[in-house]
Amino acid sequence: MRYVKGVVITGKSTMAISDHCPVAEELCPTGALIRPLIWSPCTSDAHLCATGCASLPYLLNKAIGHEMCGEIVKVGADVHDFKVGDRVIVCSVMPVWRSLEAQDGLAKQHQDNMYAGVDFPDRGGSFVEEYYIRDADMNLAPIPEGVTLEQAVMVPDMMCTAFEGMRQLSPEFGSSVAVLGIGPVGLMAVRAAVLHGAGNVFAIGSRQKCFEVAREYGATHLVDYHDDDYLRQIVKDNGGPVDGIILCGGSERELSKGLSILKKGGTLVNMSAYFSSTPIEINPTVWGFGYGDKTIKGVGCRGGRLWMSRMAQLVACGRVSPEKLITHCYHGMDKIPEAMGLFLNHDRSLIKPVIYND
Ligand code: ZN
Repeated sequence: MRYVKGVVITGKSTMAISDHCPVAEELCPTGALIRPLIWSPCTSDAHLCATGCASLPYLLNKAIGHEMCGEIVKVGADVHDFKVGDRVIVCSVMPVWRSLEAQDGLAKQHQDNMYAGVDFPDRGGSFVEEYYIRDADMNLAPIPEGVTLEQAVMVPDMMCTAFEGMRQLSPEFGSSVAVLGIGPVGLMAVRAAVLHGAGNVFAIGSRQKCFEVAREYGATHLVDYHDDDYLRQIVKDNGGPVDGIILCGGSERELSKGLSILKKGGTLVNMSAYFSSTPIEINPTVWGFGYGDKTIKGVGCRGGRLWMSRMAQLVACGRVSPEKLITHCYHGMDKIPEAMGLFLNHDRSLIKPVIYND
């Protein structure tokens, strides 16, 4: 085992730059070693930090991070489609393509990374000097010509999550979609709804900066959840309950709020993560008393080369401008804790930070 520099969580809301982040000494034949060029911290990194890794205790003192693009510095003997020097998008969820889940069409539910509930002794997250992945051909994607690093680093989680949620919601042309919570994933979901042919797209949030981006992404209605009557107003403006809901943030209570404005027969896609063991309460009256044909789906990020390449293609073609999410830009690994601090301090000017490795 070798050890490289990386950013680790040391306790509740505390981080450090450590020289003891493990990397496998030998690459497996399908593996690759990547030198990060740009990183982006995520709400889930911040949650781990705020709780001192309460939900995944084995991650304490291991490198965090899962949104990164970089340059390949070494490949295994059986890697066919990538070579040293290639600039790549690195998968966030890291599906295991040789798994029964993959044969079932759900590769993302068998993951080979730090969030899988398994402690991998030979690596941690990607906020490190060198990052090891075990399936380069399947879990890296080339950065297309003309796509910047800032755009590319919004692909592996922000786009791969939001567009997967929208794919599973699958709105009909002209149907209505409400996105509850317009942080970075919610904003991407607004764009995904527009590209998926939705008519009315309600963007529900509270921060001016997020509303501006939602408008640029094509939201038809900007809704502030501080308004007492905002749910009733959505139904009124839509001419009835909405066809589909995307839930991206907030507490467990948001589920009932979303269901309360969803039409019978509609679908709510939840993309929020609930880490506590507290049961989620659903008010039966808003769920059509249990027989209203209202579907609730819990959807997470989709990974893999093909999906990431398709997302990157949307950027290359100019259909998505993910760089609009970036509000803060830093240089050097040492600045990652400062960028994470924006989340921990609930900075209202923050949508997404990026850190260049230079
Ligand atoms: Zn993320």
